[in-house]
Amino acid sequence: MKYWRKPLDIEYLKIPRGRIHILKERCKGCSFCVEYCPCDVLEISEEFNAKGYHPPCVKDEEACVNCGLCEMLCPEFAIYLDEEEEVPVP
Ligand code: SF4
Ligand code: SF4
Repeated sequence: MKYWRKPLDIEYLKIPRGRIHILKERCKGCSFCVEYCPCDVLEISEEFNAKGYHPPCVKDEEACVNCGLCEMLCPEFAIYLDEEEEVPVP
């Protein structure tokens, strides 16, 4: 994200980061996690799980801000997150 001016407290701001875990065999391919991720981190994979659905995969893990939306939305509890170290705003 680019700022049109530099915020006065920018050196104190940190960006949260998360590591995403996908339990592929639980997935039912609804795509909620892919469609609603605000940072476009996930995509539907080409592979099939045992139920015949395409589970999501991580497209851009560096973009994840650990908001937890995918974890909250998934109706099958197939995604969970681990908190990673926060990084400074570039
Ligand atoms: S935690 Fe938020 S930013 Fe990260 S993958 Fe899930 S919805 Fe996207
Ligand atoms: S929200 Fe859950 S069930 Fe739906 S595609 Fe994502 S991981 Fe699969």
